[in-house]
Amino acid sequence: MYQDLALYIDGEFIKGGGRREQDVTNPATQEVLGKLPHASRDDLDRALAAAQRAFESWKKTSPLERSRILRKVAELARERAKEIGENMTLDQGKPLAEAVAEIVTCSEHAEWHAEECRRIYGRVIPPRNPAVRQFVVREPVGVCAAFTPWNFPFNQAIRKAAAAIAAGCTIILKGPEDTPSAVVAMAQLFHDAGLPPGVLNIVWGVPSEISTHLIESPIVRKVSFTGSVPVGKQLAALAGAHMKRATMELGGHSPVLVFDDAEVEQAADMLARMKIRNAGQVCISPTRFYVQEKAYDKFVARFADTISSIKVGDGLTKGTEMGPLVHERRLLAMEMFLDDANQRGGRVVTGGSRLGEKGFFFAPAVVTDIPDDSKLMTEEPFGPIAPVTRFKTTEEVLKRANSLPFGLASYVFTNSLKTATAVSNGLEAGMVNINHFGVALAETPFGGVKDSGIGSEGGTETFDGYLVTKFITQI
Ligand code: NAD
Repeated sequence: MYQDLALYIDGEFIKGGGRREQDVTNPATQEVLGKLPHASRDDLDRALAAAQRAFESWKKTSPLERSRILRKVAELARERAKEIGENMTLDQGKPLAEAVAEIVTCSEHAEWHAEECRRIYGRVIPPRNPAVRQFVVREPVGVCAAFTPWNFPFNQAIRKAAAAIAAGCTIILKGPEDTPSAVVAMAQLFHDAGLPPGVLNIVWGVPSEISTHLIESPIVRKVSFTGSVPVGKQLAALAGAHMKRATMELGGHSPVLVFDDAEVEQAADMLARMKIRNAGQVCISPTRFYVQEKAYDKFVARFADTISSIKVGDGLTKGTEMGPLVHERRLLAMEMFLDDANQRGGRVVTGGSRLGEKGFFFAPAVVTDIPDDSKLMTEEPFGPIAPVTRFKTTEEVLKRANSLPFGLASYVFTNSLKTATAVSNGLEAGMVNINHFGVALAETPFGGVKDSGIGSEGGTETFDGYLVTKFITQI
């Protein structure tokens, strides 16, 4: 049984009523799973009015009350993780264990914000006149419009919802139309946890129509988007035109630096597993592999060996390690990257072709001998292809790693403290992993620099985008 799909506006789950609908399909079988109702303009206006009305009372709730609801959301998410995970595997494709783990680990975002909202402190500034008292307080910014993608449907939505709600804001969230089940399930969690009507609203439709309508509305005071760089730039420009705050979590093209002195085979195994996670459709996926000369052959052999052993299949089948890509358009993108690599003399060491008659399955690929200006080395692949190239010196690899407009995650493998320090200082990235993978936890900031975005989610930075500063002076 697939999730019952609906809009969620002013505390009500809504569908039917002659609204336009869109099919949601299973990327493993191409079968239709359900019909997703699109929000009409009236629905959007109702969501705006509900969010505005709810803000007037929600902003006055105590952090303790908000905290209580968020803790309940986390508890319910853990209870329902298997069911929500199964639905996510059906519409998104990732292996069931990955889907269930996403629900369980991301319930921590609700808990982190439940804890952190009780520490939204202001400060007292010493006055020039002893009779004056001066304070700084931080207040919720208002109604937020959020747009989340299809690769981590639960993760991306709950990060934004929990941060806005904990800060005392209300939110209208447009989830991913390709993979909606986990977002509807998330709305049900908040509903069942006792969130008042209008504080959280979920809408679906044509993304550009919804984002334009919401961002242009004077009711919305903050925009938060996770998705591709081109769309992020459009939405940030629209937010800027209406002088609204914006948080942008955009694409990356994460460099991996493997030095001669690293545990090369261990690094190859770890990176292969990380590369195929969610079929490579991850903004922090390792995507450009630079391996130092002496380690190169050993790395490529082991990495390709592990990648070629990955079991690709339906995410609901036991033993599947990598599911299908989310949509036909991602398969076409993989083929475009490989065509370009072939034309530029690239060598496909393993994988690189569609698998099976049905479903969007693709054999994960390793490509060597391609130039730095190829599409694979300059555009985010967002799929299971790994280009591997050689480097000689630290200075050279830093220059090449920093040469793109992206700056999200980066990965370094070395046993030298000196090298680790030099590259973590020198990499233009929002997140640096050295000899392990450790980003995207609730208590750590997640975000990029350059074209990869503006602002961070998670960590103590999490409320920066949802609060405004007010200075009060009194005598
Ligand atoms: P896309 O650019 O068409 O869409 C990306 C996301 O943005 C989707 O969720 C889509 O619904 C949404 N979107 C598109 N236009 C929008 C608009 N005008 N207003 C609001 N939302 C809008 O690309 P795609 O094929 O779906 O995904 C592939 C690309 O998206 C990748 O290259 C990757 O860079 C990026 N992406 C990034 C993340 C991330 O976590 N940063 C997640 C998913 C996709």
